Amino acid sequence: MERTLSIVKPDGVKKNVVGEVISRFEKKELKISALKMLLLSKEEAQRFYVVHKERPFYGSLTHFMSEGPIVVMVVSGENAIAKVREIMGATNPKDAAPGTIRADFASDIERNIVHGSDSQQSAAYEIPFFFSSLEIL
Ligand code: UDP
Ligand code: MG
Repeated sequence: MERTLSIVKPDGVKKNVVGEVISRFEKKELKISALKMLLLSKEEAQRFYVVHKERPFYGSLTHFMSEGPIVVMVVSGENAIAKVREIMGATNPKDAAPGTIRADFASDIERNIVHGSDSQQSAAYEIPFFFSSLEIL
């Protein structure tokens, strides 16, 4: 059993694909262990994506992530980290495999609908960023 942090980003909420994203996880035997909607401030988005601080897209990404509500969730199951990444598809929708969330719904490399932790180390930072232990079932 493994846990990962997934986010339906502001573009995904605007495009009404919150249910679609959750449904794709559930169809692959993953469980939703925690879930909430919230609006990040720019400062909070900067803290969440601090690993990308030196990247050229950091300013634009953190602006985008704070432009509207997001849905954050803890997703659990066997190989949850890799499974969620596979269901999401590649960062750039042009490279994402057919049938993945990003291939089906993303506009471009930044506005790509969904986030998923990329490693156990990332999940260990990202899950407690949003949820206390009491909120994770
Ligand atoms: N991103 C971007 N331009 C890039 C690479 C990434 O705007 O050239 C954005 C995109 O929203 C991506 C996020 O920054 O999902 C985090 O980048 P990362 O490389 O961690 O991709 P992910 O793990 O989300 O696939
Ligand atoms: Mg990443």
